[in-house]
Amino acid sequence: MVFSKGPDNVAEKHGNVSADNVVDKLHRPLRDLRVSVTDRCNFRCVYCMPKSVFDNNYKFLPRKDLLSFEEIVRVVKVAADFGVTKIRLTGGEPLIRNDLEQLIEWIAGVNGIKDISLTTNATLLTKKRADSLRSAGLQRLNVSLDAIDDETFMRVNDVGVSVQQVLEGIENASTAGFKSIKVNMVVKKGLNDHSILPMAKFFHGTGQILRFIEFMDVGNSNEWNMSHVVTSKEIADRINAELPIEAIEANYRGEVAKRWRYADGGGEVGIITSVSEPFCGDCSRARLSATGSIYTCLFASSGHDLRPILRLSEQEQDDNALRDEFRRIWSGREDRYSETRTQVSVIRPKVEMSFIGG
Ligand code: SAM
Ligand code: SF4
Ligand code: SF4
Repeated sequence: MVFSKGPDNVAEKHGNVSADNVVDKLHRPLRDLRVSVTDRCNFRCVYCMPKSVFDNNYKFLPRKDLLSFEEIVRVVKVAADFGVTKIRLTGGEPLIRNDLEQLIEWIAGVNGIKDISLTTNATLLTKKRADSLRSAGLQRLNVSLDAIDDETFMRVNDVGVSVQQVLEGIENASTAGFKSIKVNMVVKKGLNDHSILPMAKFFHGTGQILRFIEFMDVGNSNEWNMSHVVTSKEIADRINAELPIEAIEANYRGEVAKRWRYADGGGEVGIITSVSEPFCGDCSRARLSATGSIYTCLFASSGHDLRPILRLSEQEQDDNALRDEFRRIWSGREDRYSETRTQVSVIRPKVEMSFIGG
């Protein structure tokens, strides 16, 4: 596949010549940007986009409301000026967005960006697509898979997709030579927690790192309740009972998954402890919605709309205005929702996961 040259200067690697390392009110720098490229998805995972809400009448965003790739890259460049080195593309299902390879190639050309990854349900990851994503500069993949038997998996995705379809996507990615492929499983009590051990056994020894994610109270649609959460400790205990594991050091400060190694050398697993052991103190992530709003927390009620600046007329375009807005947003940030979840008495609306991406 041949890609056109990026928007002005992107391919020329201009950017964070003098990185402006802004910190928020809790002294946390900005390092990661998660970019949602669509709010649409071909799954209806019951914990994320339940059919009762995301039905045929649901109004997804019209095309004109989505940021163009040029607009996304402008935001990425400014984010890189503030120290962002990692970009994760997400959604909705990001592979639904056409020509994602073009966006990846442009982002790969932004000075300061060292790591580009994608979170996907892998159903659209054909061999050809995996190859073209890899050649465009995508380095790492996180594939979501919530069970290893069809009955449970179909109950979760609610659209009849089989486990085999996802495994084929993983296989295609593996052949395409991605630096790392991680498999993410959200664990919800009573829905798929009986799959913890079968999933661990399946990925044990494969080189693919399986990560368990505690079910979170993101958005307003999934009827979250603390009794649905299987805690990290319980997940580790259940694995350890059959496949002994030992805790290991994080790869870097702020790594979201707690790492465990199989005692028999069969690789490692991770557990993302967002509910039972929050990690807000090290949270250096911002999220850009498909409509161009910056969210400084996964549990935010509202974002900061960049479109008024991004969509100024050509003569009025000014990256300094974007930079000032970014600095204002991040320096005013004091989010630490997961640390305060149990103290919050007022229930307020939160943005949906499928809108800002995981
Ligand atoms: N569609 C893609 C996928 O599923 O990989 C990307 C978007 S999805 C919103 C990103 C991640 O968020 C997935 O791993 C999904 O399982 C996770 N997720 C969604 N809702 C969640 C919830 N309530 N608690 C924990 N993780 C959740
Ligand atoms: Fe779609 Fe991902 Fe949400 Fe499942 S978790 S409904 S695949 S966006
Ligand atoms: Fe970051 Fe908000 Fe999650 Fe805390 S709750 S880790 S601040 S996204």
